[in-house]
Amino acid sequence: MPSPNPRILIAEDESGIADTLQYVLKSDGFTPVWCATAEEALAQFALEPPALAILDVGLPDLNGFELFKRLHALPGGAQVPMIFLTARSDEIDRVVGLELGADDYIAKPFSPRELVARVRTILRRSGRGQAPAPAAVPTPAAAASPQPFALDVERMQIRYYGRALDLSRYEYGLLRLLVQRPGRVFTRDELLQLVWDDASESFDRTVDAHIKTLRAKLKTIAPDVEPIRTLRGTGYALNEELPATP
Ligand code: CA
Repeated sequence: MPSPNPRILIAEDESGIADTLQYVLKSDGFTPVWCATAEEALAQFALEPPALAILDVGLPDLNGFELFKRLHALPGGAQVPMIFLTARSDEIDRVVGLELGADDYIAKPFSPRELVARVRTILRRSGRGQAPAPAAVPTPAAAASPQPFALDVERMQIRYYGRALDLSRYEYGLLRLLVQRPGRVFTRDELLQLVWDDASESFDRTVDAHIKTLRAKLKTIAPDVEPIRTLRGTGYALNEELPATP
């Protein structure tokens, strides 16, 4: 199925600019995904590569050029068109950006309409505007082994060995991420960024506390199965090898 609303990743720390971008992209039929830091952008990108990425050169944690190189190195990263956005009108920035292989370069202040027009042109040129939604493609791990988890995104519900779990909003968000990428290690920071609305007001131990209550709920269904692996000092991952019956 072709995706009618291509995801556009926006890495921009100024919320005013990000709001404007999200608004024009949304009204033009795109699904914008806003990340205020390079770290968050890397996590989002790794989870699901977007159809296109818009990168601010002046980010707080990493400059846009460095972010570009890291995104490029991720699986599928080389296929994602990227546009640089910068307040600096330096010719040098323009040259560096285009030499790195960016698809376009836009100086602030810019016309949001013009930016969306360029996004459309680039997607048409790269043929990605009609790309199937990455979420619809099963991951090899999910296809290979029968999973005791069944995810129903529309109902925000997860079944475990056939039984519906009664989860809080954050427990659901955490388990959903883990179930969608069996084996993938998520750091506490990634989990905070991806599941919590305001990650800056939460802490690593918030993640640990919710994982603990989540595990307790899973144990009530399958007391001898431990589906969530802890990686000391790093984070969590879903166990890829789970018994077919509890
Ligand atoms: Ca900035």
